Amino acid sequence: MVRFTSPSDQPEAEARAGAGENKLLLKIPWVDRSKCKRESECKAAAVCKQKAFEVQPPSEEEPGLARDCPLVDLERCKQCGECEKACPEHAVKMV
Ligand code: SF4
Ligand code: SF4
Repeated sequence: MVRFTSPSDQPEAEARAGAGENKLLLKIPWVDRSKCKRESECKAAAVCKQKAFEVQPPSEEEPGLARDCPLVDLERCKQCGECEKACPEHAVKMV
């Protein structure tokens, strides 16, 4: 199972995001931890028909927040881009 969750955890995703438009590779969803509000009900997760988003419990490192950032299971993801459109914080990017 392969997961992308944050630029610090996923150098490849960070490199793709930093490179701007990616015309050669299939785009994959990437959750930007600096923008994600850790909402109790992730709107990006709600629209994913593949159930590729995995909502997380609260993080001990961030007390007071409802949840940690969601993870994305790329083995389920079909690269449709609906999650990017659904996140009101623009925290999900197809990179
Ligand atoms: S909808 Fe966006 S900001 Fe809210 S929890 Fe999901 S990824 Fe984070
Ligand atoms: S790109 Fe589509 S299939 Fe992949 S996580 Fe986002 S909504 Fe789900």
